[in-house]
Amino acid sequence: MIKRLLIANRGEIAVRIIRACRELGIETVAVYSTADQNNLHVRFADQAVCIGPPPSSESYLLKNNLIMAAVNTGCEAIHPGVGFLSENAAFARAVREKGLIFIGPDPDVIDLLGDKVQARDTAKKFGLPITPGTEGAVSDPGLAAKAVEHLGYPVIIKAASGGGGKGMRIVRSKEELAENLSIASREAESNFADGTVFIEKYLENPRHVELQILADGRGNVAVLGERDCSVQKNHQKLIEESPSPGVDSGMRKRMAEGAVRMFRELKYQGAGTIEFLVEENNFYFMEVNARVQVEHPVSEYITGVDIIREQILACTESRMEIDPGQVDLDGWSIECRINALSPGLVTSLYVPGGPGVRFDSFLYQGCMVPPHYDSMVGKLIVHAPTRERALARMERALYELSVEGIKTNISRQRWIIRHPKFRSGNFGTGYYEEIREEVERA
Ligand code: ADP
Repeated sequence: MIKRLLIANRGEIAVRIIRACRELGIETVAVYSTADQNNLHVRFADQAVCIGPPPSSESYLLKNNLIMAAVNTGCEAIHPGVGFLSENAAFARAVREKGLIFIGPDPDVIDLLGDKVQARDTAKKFGLPITPGTEGAVSDPGLAAKAVEHLGYPVIIKAASGGGGKGMRIVRSKEELAENLSIASREAESNFADGTVFIEKYLENPRHVELQILADGRGNVAVLGERDCSVQKNHQKLIEESPSPGVDSGMRKRMAEGAVRMFRELKYQGAGTIEFLVEENNFYFMEVNARVQVEHPVSEYITGVDIIREQILACTESRMEIDPGQVDLDGWSIECRINALSPGLVTSLYVPGGPGVRFDSFLYQGCMVPPHYDSMVGKLIVHAPTRERALARMERALYELSVEGIKTNISRQRWIIRHPKFRSGNFGTGYYEEIREEVERA
C-alpha cells in the first residue's frame, strides 16, 4: 500500500478523497491557492502546500508545480479529483514520468476516450449503439450538409475535445449549418485548443443515463448500476438518481454487456463512467468520462461500495476489494447538487441528519466561498427503499439544510423535488427548460 498521496484538487471532492485515504491509512497532501487557505480540505489533510494565486490557470492547473509539490512532500501518487486536470493525458503522463502513480487510467486510454470521435469509433467496435452522426470529424460545410441529409434536422455540432456541456450547437435547418459549423469550430479551438467538431442527430428530449464502472486493469470490470442525470440546466447536471426511472433490467443488462467488453479490452484502470442517451427502448453511446464523477455517491448508496477507495486500490495495487460478480443494487438514491448563486462568507450552516442522508461538502460555519471556482458547494444525497420514500426523504433533508450568508439553490431544488413531473419519473433532458421560469422564481 502507498503511504502518501497528493490531491490535485480542492473543495468537496478533495475532502471526499481525504476521507477515503484516511480510512485506507494513506497520508494526504492537499494543495491550495491563496483563495483557499482556510478551505476544509486544507484543514483535513495531513499536510498542505500553497501552489499559487486564486486563478486556476495559475494554481490548480499548473502541472509542474503540482508534480513538484508531490515530489517534495514524498508522495507516491496523485489523485486528480474531478474537473481541472482529471482527464488531462499530458498531466497523467508527466506524473508517471516522475515515477508517481496517477489515480486514473493509462494516459493513452485518456487520450483515446477524451476524443469523442475516437470514443464513438471505439464504442461501435465493441458493439455499442452510438448516436447517429457523422463518420468522424467534419470541417467542410458542403460535405457536412451532405452527411446531415441522411440524419435529418435537428442536429447537434459537438467539439471532439469538448466537456462540461461546452462547445455544443444545435442546428435546426440547412441554412444555419455552415455558419454554426465555423462558430462551433472556433469556439472549440479557443476553449479546448482543438477545433475538431463532429455532428450528431439531436434527440429532442432523451434521458441522460450513465453507468458507473470500476476496473482493475487486469480484466475485472464491475458495473455499479446506472445513474439518471436528465435534470440539467444548460447541459449541466443538477439532480441525479439511481436507478433510472427509464431503464428496465433488460436495457441495464444490454448497456452493461457492451460497457464491460469495452472497458476490459481497453485495460481500463480505476473509476469511469460511460454515458448514454436513452429514447424509449433505445440507448445510444455518448461518451466516456475517464475519472470519478460528482454524482458517484448515489451509486455508492445503492451498492454499498466506496468508489474512491476502490479507485485508489485499482490504480495503486491493480486490485479491488469488491467482486464484480457480487454487486447488488439496493433501494433508491437521489442527489441534489447544492450550488452557490453568489460567493461570500457562510455565516451559519445546519447540515441535515437522520436515516439515509449524506451531505458531501466543503462548507463550515465561517468559511469563505471564493468567486474563482465552480459554483457547486455541496451535494445532498439520500437513500431509501423506494423512489417514493427517497423523494420524501430528500424533501425533508432539503427542508432541514440551511446555509446562510450566501445565496444557494436549495429552495429551487425543493421546488423540483416536489414537482409532479419530476415525481412521475417521466422526464428527459428538456425538463429543466420547461420549468425554468417557474423554478428560478422559487
Ligand atoms: P460534455 O462532455 O460537455 O458533458 P456530453 O456529450 O456528455 O457533453 O453531453 C452533455 C449533454 O448534452 C447530454 O447530457 C445531453 O443533455 C446533451 N446532448 C449531447 N448530445 C446530444 C444529442 N445528440 N441529442 C440531444 N442531446 C444531446
